[in-house]
Amino acid sequence: MRVTTLGKTGLRVSALGFGGIPIIRLVFDDAVHVVRHCFEGGITFFDTANVYGDSEKKIGTALESVRDKVVFATKTLARDAETAAEHVNYSLENLKTSRIELYQLHNLINEAALDTVLAPGGAYEAVKKARDDGRIAFIGFSSHHIPTAIKACRTGLFATVQFPFNFIERDPADELFKVAEEMNMGIIAMKPLGGGLLERADLCFGFLQQYPNVIPIPGIQAKKELDEIVALYRSPKPLAEADRKEIERIRAELGTKFCHRCEYCMPCEKGVMIPNVLGFRSFSRRLAPMAAIAMAEGPMQTVENCEECQECVEKCPYDLPIPDLLKEGLSLYKDFVKQHG
Ligand code: SF4
Ligand code: SF4
Repeated sequence: MRVTTLGKTGLRVSALGFGGIPIIRLVFDDAVHVVRHCFEGGITFFDTANVYGDSEKKIGTALESVRDKVVFATKTLARDAETAAEHVNYSLENLKTSRIELYQLHNLINEAALDTVLAPGGAYEAVKKARDDGRIAFIGFSSHHIPTAIKACRTGLFATVQFPFNFIERDPADELFKVAEEMNMGIIAMKPLGGGLLERADLCFGFLQQYPNVIPIPGIQAKKELDEIVALYRSPKPLAEADRKEIERIRAELGTKFCHRCEYCMPCEKGVMIPNVLGFRSFSRRLAPMAAIAMAEGPMQTVENCEECQECVEKCPYDLPIPDLLKEGLSLYKDFVKQHG
């Protein structure tokens, strides 16, 4: 596995990292085995967040005996200093460590959120204090909003930026990553597989390997997923012309109005299961028809509760017209049931 430097942090990490969301779904011991398998496969950079269920605890337990060989990154959604200070200590305990290499302010959704965390009494104050007293080594941030991320990079206050990046979301390469590189920041790519939407790992990682300074952190929940991706990193192959054409075909098919399953729109007060409904098109292709119908039946019943209040639209970092997409998803489901049910 290639090793690279995480920008100005100087931290040496594997060119492929680990994203800590999917292990939430595994029972504790299975998750520990998966994390350990990733380490044995050459991954030394593990990213998680205190809001990812017991992900921090699973990672901390799995890697306790090899702590000096791995780099931990975690995050807080806190916007104020008091809560952020509590979260730093909580993460230290969960990760079974006395120092976290990278602590990130999570999901700076817009410029107002950035201004809030940087204001007096904001979360940045607490993480800076934790850095000054050695409980964390570097401060980064994550975002889904390019103008906010560029503004955050330009403050010079952060050592890393974490942003969604894959072959259907490649806008960050135009300006954001250039600014981050100018500032010598580490660049971490969340959702390298489009949040589960993209099936061909060879295309996804072939695309990403064109950006050697960008460290993808795929969410991994099974040993075989890791083995497939690690093989692509051990013997990297440039994209062939046929691969590029296939990437363009998939991009055209998905368009730009697709759900990234980030769940920032949730919860809906009316109980609408937004990501499950919007994701139907994707999982109906991957599952057997009856399994797809069974999985979607409950979420689809919640669509009629939507009162088009627009609260979810305001929270969605991709500005998706969610009420319209819910109707579209329901209609697609009904046609699918007629065809296969
Ligand atoms: S627009 Fe509909 S789905 Fe969105 S929050 Fe309002 S009720 Fe829920
Ligand atoms: S609708 Fe928007 S906020 Fe909700 S899961 Fe999809 S991309 Fe995320």
